[in-house]
Amino acid sequence: MAFPESVKQQARLRSRGICQCVRETCPHVGPCKASGAEYHHKKGLRNGGGDELSNCQFLCKQCHGQAHGEGSSLGRI
Ligand SMILES: [Zn+2]
Ligand SMILES: [Zn+2]
Repeated sequence: MAFPESVKQQARLRSRGICQCVRETCPHVGPCKASGAEYHHKKGLRNGGGDELSNCQFLCKQCHGQAHGEGSSLGRI
């Protein structure tokens, strides 16, 4: 239910510490640009998503909350 440290590290480097969210339902317009803080499974574990880098998205707290909010069956982290 959590990414290995190596994947987290790569995701953080890849995003340069910035939230990777581009969701249109978020308060921000376009890329978020806030400082990232949490790691999100793009495809939920229950839907067959894994703990690999390609399924990892570095998000700020707010966007991570949104990602698990409305219209999502992923539930809470
Ligand atoms: Zn964000
Ligand atoms: Zn967002």
